[in-house]
Amino acid sequence: MKKCSDFTLIELLVVIAIIAILAAMLLPALQQARSRGMSAECSNRLKQIGTAHAMYINDNNDYLACGYDPNGAYQDTCSKAHPAWVVRLAPYLNLRVQDWYRLYDFTRMNCPQKEDYRLLSGERASNVYTLNYATRVYMSDRGRYGVKINEVVLPAKKIYVLDGAYYRYYFNYANSLNTYAVRHRGGLNYVTFAGNVNWHKSAALKDQGYSYFALNSK
Ligand SMILES: [Zn+2]
Repeated sequence: MKKCSDFTLIELLVVIAIIAILAAMLLPALQQARSRGMSAECSNRLKQIGTAHAMYINDNNDYLACGYDPNGAYQDTCSKAHPAWVVRLAPYLNLRVQDWYRLYDFTRMNCPQKEDYRLLSGERASNVYTLNYATRVYMSDRGRYGVKINEVVLPAKKIYVLDGAYYRYYFNYANSLNTYAVRHRGGLNYVTFAGNVNWHKSAALKDQGYSYFALNSK
């Protein structure tokens, strides 16, 4: 009688092939789950920024937390006397401030999904969260006082901080038209002036951008 408990070479190869096929089928699902997890963590970080901003507004006579670009042409919006938005929000996020435009640890001000990716324009994106440029436009006239929350029309729709702009310090309507990151499921996350976090498909945001960026648009 033939002994049948031993694997033949053919049987072993078949088993290995089946395992390989199963692994190949599972891998995309695992990658998708990981990607969703990253997006959820990103939303969580933006939500904390939104909550911190609400507290800042409450403590600062309704003025928004603004200020960015300490090295560039807009030093009137960010200086020792008028720190960057990340520094203004730091106390509400229990983050340690290094100086007037830097934190010791920027982790929670960045998207957790750090993989290299391209913008619609083909440029490489950074994973730094960026501030709405419109907060600066209004500041030109008003010096350090900037804009009050009640001046923002439809604050639950207007983007305060965006995950997905290519420029390190801010985003605006003009420079973002073709430069949205598509880091999360073909779209991007953002937190509004009202503190709610949304996801938006990049293409749709490109078409309707102005209504999300300009503080006084309807
Ligand atoms: Zn993100």
